[in-house]
Amino acid sequence: MKIILLGPPGAGKGTQAKRLAEELVLAHISTGDLLRQNVKEASALGKEARGFMERGLLVPDELVAQMLKKRFDQEDIRKGFILDGYPRNINQAETLDRMLKDNNVRIDTVVYLDTSDPVIIQRLGGRLVCSNCGTNFHTRNMPPKKEGICDYCAGKLYQRNDDKEETVRKRIEVYKKEVASLIKYYRQQNKLHTISSDEDAGVVLNKIIALVRQNG
Ligand code: AMP
Repeated sequence: MKIILLGPPGAGKGTQAKRLAEELVLAHISTGDLLRQNVKEASALGKEARGFMERGLLVPDELVAQMLKKRFDQEDIRKGFILDGYPRNINQAETLDRMLKDNNVRIDTVVYLDTSDPVIIQRLGGRLVCSNCGTNFHTRNMPPKKEGICDYCAGKLYQRNDDKEETVRKRIEVYKKEVASLIKYYRQQNKLHTISSDEDAGVVLNKIIALVRQNG
């Protein structure tokens, strides 16, 4: 199964993709996670990407494409994958199609996690991320058992730099500018399915699983 999760920041793409990957035994590819890892390691890519990320802007398509291409070379994606955070615009969608075609692979299902603005703001405002394993928590919706500590690996939880209010506003603006054309692109290919992501994470997960099993 090859799945794309589309949706605004705060839609729960990361949380859902991680759980879905475990449930369906698929590779989870998050371009945001890969970029943050590069920033953490201060790689050449990380140094270039950092400024864009801190301002809530998209990292240039070419840089992200190179990074993704390397990820697709890894063995684990053969079992299928969930793309989380890619594509973010039409150019990236077309790049993805070309990359997959070169490997004789195609996307089965695109799940659009439709989320209302108040929910986005509430989720991002309270999001905490594990500095070690990347699991997302939320101060109210999904609090860790022990404050500031990851339930799974005891890593330290932190607030993402780009989850600060001003950057969040920019990220939502960038997202809204690009999403309509992506929705059209995948609707034309008959791959787009919309699920409301305002509900509880568990409810949304069950809906996604039912959907991808039907269409996979
Ligand atoms: P995310 O973790 O998906 O919210 O992404 C965090 C940040 O990483 C975004 O605000 C962008 O700056 C950058 N980023 C992640 N994925 C992409 C992408 N596909 N294209 C460009 N920039 C990206």
